[in-house]
Amino acid sequence: MSIFEKIVAGEIPCHKVYEDERVLAFLDVNPISEGHTLVIPKEAAETLDALSDESAAAIGRALPRICRAVMRATGASAYNVLQNNGSAAHQVVMHVHFHIIPRFQDRGLGIGWEARSLDAETGAALAEGMRKAMGNGQ
Ligand code: 5GP
Repeated sequence: MSIFEKIVAGEIPCHKVYEDERVLAFLDVNPISEGHTLVIPKEAAETLDALSDESAAAIGRALPRICRAVMRATGASAYNVLQNNGSAAHQVVMHVHFHIIPRFQDRGLGIGWEARSLDAETGAALAEGMRKAMGNGQ
């Protein structure tokens, strides 16, 4: 049982921000910036790709609302939404979660973003592979 399942079950306390039938949001215990909030499905899926359509829809509905609340309560006018999947991608708690991280002048998410250019051949092959994986054909 992950720590977030224990929070959902009420076995571990949290500073609750939002709750509905499928979604829970609460403050991160080690915030990067003031108002750093975690939004999780109550369903115990480890990574986003394993989440049911029902929980995905509920999260999608709740996220913008919670983002607005975080901005209003903190006064932040910018923020990042971060969602890690797999330990190689910095996921520590193996239960799907979205970080909402307010950006202030001196605090917020640090991003190392090494962008490269996408060549046309690689892009076409990758997109085709993904369309096929989605059962979409062209
Ligand atoms: P990850 O690296 O898995 O994307 O992030 C996990 C996040 O969960 C971290 O930011 C960490 O501070 C937070 N976290 C871990 N344990 C607890 C806990 O017991 N309570 C709360 N509120 N946050 C937690």
